[in-house]
Amino acid sequence: MSETITCFCCNSDKNELITNKGQFNIPLKMVMCSDCGFVFLNPRKSKEEYIHFYTNEYDKYYRPSIINFKAKTDNDTLGKVIKNRISSSLPKCNNIMEIGSGSGFNLISLMEDYPDSNYYAIEPSESSKTILERNNIKVISNDADSDWDKNERKYDLIIMRHVLEHMMDPISVLKKIANSLTEEGLFYVAVPNAYKPKSPFQESWVRFPHTFYFSPDTLTTILQKSGLEVVNKLVQGDEHNQYELFGLTKKSKSINEPIINDNSNKQREIFDRIMNKESKFGFKMKNKLNQLKKKIKQ
Ligand SMILES: [Zn+2]
Repeated sequence: MSETITCFCCNSDKNELITNKGQFNIPLKMVMCSDCGFVFLNPRKSKEEYIHFYTNEYDKYYRPSIINFKAKTDNDTLGKVIKNRISSSLPKCNNIMEIGSGSGFNLISLMEDYPDSNYYAIEPSESSKTILERNNIKVISNDADSDWDKNERKYDLIIMRHVLEHMMDPISVLKKIANSLTEEGLFYVAVPNAYKPKSPFQESWVRFPHTFYFSPDTLTTILQKSGLEVVNKLVQGDEHNQYELFGLTKKSKSINEPIINDNSNKQREIFDRIMNKESKFGFKMKNKLNQLKKKIKQ
């Protein structure tokens, strides 16, 4: 079953196709809103089909390290990235939570600096849950869309790294986050940057699990619509990862309807540039291969 959606930024139902194929040759429809430039899958698979995918197939495709218990050093390095980026801004942390924590390497890295904090996670993967619990991280839900926010607990820090782009309704999740932060609490968000797509575009950057593709413009709008405001400004890449869009946000003091600009031309040009470059490169490679084959035959 698939479902059709309207733009989560500007509510428009006008969109244009960018590509109909993603990583691992999985068929999909990635479109761009013609009125504001927000990029998303449309139509897309139902929530039930995505739940089935995350429960049974996601680790196999994307996190074989959890299954094989390999790549621990990679995760150790990754875990330090968030700490480096945010530790100077952090308030006193009683409660720290990560949504989509995987095996918990970000939280485990924070434990070195905040040994007395309580750690919580929302994580669907069964193999990750075992590792989290072994590290004293309490798994409060397996689904960010559940009612995990319906209790008294408030968080001084919530982390969501490369998760928002997987959501079916990012605004609903972000509203729960805004309501669950303490008055001075911070929310760290990181997503792939639609203004800096990484090659290979179709074979890797466009992904079935990525239902939304945020740029600094569209992420700012979505955050504002959810009652969050960016603390300094969103960062478009640093020495750890030049393709990542990230930043710290906090609860908005007042809720204003955001002004939405049309960035569709800018977004279209960025995608056209990378797809043209790659198709030319693909053409050159095919030619070279054919010449090589001819030589071998001679
Ligand atoms: Zn739009």
